[in-house]
This record gives sequence, C-alpha cells and structure tokens, in this order.
Amino acid sequence: MNPERDLITAITRRAAAFAPTSPPAGLRQGIGDDCAIWKPSPQQDSLITTDTLVEGVHFDRRWHPPHLLGRKAVAVNMSDIAAMGGTPRYVLLSLGLGDQEDPAWLDAMLDGLAEAVAAYGAVLIGGDTVNSPERLLLSVTVIGESPESRACLRSSGQPGDSVWVGGPLGLAAGGLELCRQGLATDPRWQPAVQAHLDPQAQVELGQKLATAGLVHAMMDLSDGLATDLAHICTASGVSAEVAAALLPIPALVHRAAAVCQADPLSWALGGGEDYHLLFTADPAHDPAISNLAGTVAGATLTRIGCLTAPPAGGPGVILRDADGTGREISYRGYDHFRAAP
Ligand SMILES: [Mg+2]
Repeated sequence: MNPERDLITAITRRAAAFAPTSPPAGLRQGIGDDCAIWKPSPQQDSLITTDTLVEGVHFDRRWHPPHLLGRKAVAVNMSDIAAMGGTPRYVLLSLGLGDQEDPAWLDAMLDGLAEAVAAYGAVLIGGDTVNSPERLLLSVTVIGESPESRACLRSSGQPGDSVWVGGPLGLAAGGLELCRQGLATDPRWQPAVQAHLDPQAQVELGQKLATAGLVHAMMDLSDGLATDLAHICTASGVSAEVAAALLPIPALVHRAAAVCQADPLSWALGGGEDYHLLFTADPAHDPAISNLAGTVAGATLTRIGCLTAPPAGGPGVILRDADGTGREISYRGYDHFRAAP
C-alpha cells in the first residue's frame, strides 16, 4: 500500500477519462514521465500562470463541496489565461494532503477538477503530490497560448479609454458571506452562492475581445474592482474614474447584503473573486463592445467609467457618487468601504 502511488494512479485515471479522443497535436508526452513534453504552436506566444488554494485561507470545506472546489481550483487559473485573451492548453496539478484524507471527498474533488480541465478545452499533463498534514493545498498551473504579440496586458490602458466589466459585481463576495452565516442553502441566494463556489472564467470573451483588436488593457477581477483597476492604472500610468451609478450590482446582492448586515458597495468594490474580465478600450469601440456581449454566453458587458490622465499625485482610482462627489478607492479592500460615509 503506497498512498502516493494510489493518488497518482487516481489522478492519471481521471486525466485519461477526461482526455480528448485524439491528444493535442503539440503534446509529445503527458503524465507518466519525469517531465511532460509539448511543442508550442507556430506563431503563438506561450502563456503560463499558477494559483494555489490553501484550506482555511482560500476555501472552507464546511460549505465548499469537493466537486465544486476542484472546478474552482481550475477556473481561477483559467481566468488568468482569459485575462490575456489566450487559449488554455495544458494543466499541472500539485496536491498537498494529510494521511487521513477521506477517499470519497478526494474522488469528488478530482472529478470536478478533471471535468473543469476538459470543459475549458485543456489537458492534464502532470503534477506532484506532497504530504501536508495541517491543511489541504491545491496548486494548479495552466499553460496557454495566444497569437504572437497579441496578449492583452495591464499596461496598455490610455487616457480617455472606456472601462468595462464582463459581468455583475459583488455576487461572489455575497455568496461567501451567506456561506459564513449558514444561509447558503436558501434557494433564493443560489446565484450568489454559486458565484462563490463555482466561478466561471471568461475565456471565450477574452479571446473574442483580443481577436477583434478591441482591447487596450485587460485583467481579471480576482481581488475586487478597487484593487484590480488600480493595478491597471499603476501599470499603464493613468488614473480611472468609475461612476457608482453605473456599477452592475444585482438586486440580489442588495437583498443579500441587507440580510447579512453588510454593505453591497463593499462587496462590489472590495469583495473580490468575481472572476469577470476588466478591460479598457477606445470609446470609439463602445458600440462594437456592447454588440459583442450578445455573442458570448454568460457575458454582460457594462461600461463603468473611463481612464484619465494621471494627476500630479500619481495614478489612482476615483469613485464618483451620483451627487458628483469623488473619493479615492485605489487598492481598498472590503473593510475600507464598510467604514466609508
Ligand atoms: Mg489575474
């Protein structure tokens, strides 16, 4: 009995079960040797990204079903490939587990993970397992591709650009709080709970925006709009102004915030984990971008503001309220908004 061998066998079996019927043309060696071997496609840049989920820090097993946790570990990485306008190709998994792991829990998690890898059109090609007695740890690496020199960077924003988001804000943060307060089983909160437990990366939207040449700067919303837009501003050397009235905060988020005694604006700006795309584009493309939303399932594109020339004080993000007053929100997390007037 060798638990690590058993685990590798279990992962390999799932990789095979969810693999495409014919392996990708560039894959020379998948799971089973010291390294995987792939040949990048001609005229493509290779993209690589990694993201780790740690039990008790990034997820809580008391409310996160294992199947959905496996899917989320993949989706948060796919979201980074989406943010470049890329196409995911290969996935590596590193798993840190204790000795007493429940086999049924692990099977369900691996099923969700393998299912998600296949759903995003990628192939699991290797990884590692380590002993982690205190906390479960799930580290996923994704290798992707994008047409040469066409990947969308954070640093390409220009003053005057429109700022767009690819979906509603605050649902995932609301879902997390509903789970924390033991309210997640109430059917009326399911869109928020699902957004937290099972986020969807906007890979197709990212590809379409990049291919159409409509985007200047792009990233994905993982830390909350206030922080993520500040990253674009810093990288691009610009400021941003966002109108509070334009933020796509669903009525459900307002209702859930009332029940949780939380502030919906805090969830929308500082909650994080929405995993929608955040991008900037020439305002001349506003109509084309609005039209594109209808061609991608699950995408609701909303223009929330614009980039501006940076003031003397340096780049920053201003939130403009309906009465015209502005406040600086750069890099603010959840707690900052709660205290705001
Ligand atoms: Mg990202």
